[in-house]
Amino acid sequence: MSEPLRIVWSRPLPAAATPSTVTVSQDNAGRWFVSLLCEDTGVKPLPPNAEAVGIDVGLDHLLILSTGEKITNPRHERYDRTQLAKAQRELSRKAKGSKNREKARRRVARVHARITDRRRDHLHKITTRLVRENQTLVIEDLTVRNLLKNGRLARAISDAAWSEFRGMLEYKSQWYGREVIAVDRFFPSSRLCSACGALKDRMPLNVRTWTCDRCATTHDRDVNAANNLLAAGLAASACGAGVRPQRRTPGGQSAMKQEFGGATRRVPVRRAGEEVKR
Ligand SMILES: [Zn+2]
Repeated sequence: MSEPLRIVWSRPLPAAATPSTVTVSQDNAGRWFVSLLCEDTGVKPLPPNAEAVGIDVGLDHLLILSTGEKITNPRHERYDRTQLAKAQRELSRKAKGSKNREKARRRVARVHARITDRRRDHLHKITTRLVRENQTLVIEDLTVRNLLKNGRLARAISDAAWSEFRGMLEYKSQWYGREVIAVDRFFPSSRLCSACGALKDRMPLNVRTWTCDRCATTHDRDVNAANNLLAAGLAASACGAGVRPQRRTPGGQSAMKQEFGGATRRVPVRRAGEEVKR
């Protein structure tokens, strides 16, 4: 370059850092990015605490916490989606190879970029907060492929948001001395009472709250599932099994012991490749 570039810094470089790699890239929307790779010695583990949280994928919400908190999709997402549909319609009407088609293509790419940016920003804020607040974070080890089988879930957590979320959670936990426990898709977490361990026979997708037949506790469907996830993660962590992604077990089937108020039960683990029932 003959003169300095007009650069918008996303954040200041860490003190005394010398970039070891500089990557220049351009996205589909035509924006240029310069990424500087450097060692940040300022990242220190946070003081340990005793908090633990189960984080589940909700049907109507982006994430559900075992604390009962429901985290929604980023603001404007619905609006952006209608804008995207509109831009795509425009694009389909333009003649191939024309200047107007190129302009329309750029417009579609810009809306896509806006959705992705806002989502990433949202996920950064959520993961930073969760890692700060909790020593142990239990998530479900589900693959995006499994998720996309279900149309409703696919909309709630599209764009590989889950794997991005998980990635952020894992590297931030490493930075700050936290533990992420990924529990294999294991049991019908929606139908299992997190208070007494009784199993409900049926649980259609439209049931949002239900009452346990045995202990009469009324559950929010998603919060109950997040609590089951947390319990399973802590149990797995305590017995030292399945702390890291436990992809499949020899023979394709295994069982997980869980403690619920003194009672030990065996919970079936889903076979690899088996359809997920929620
Ligand atoms: Zn119960």
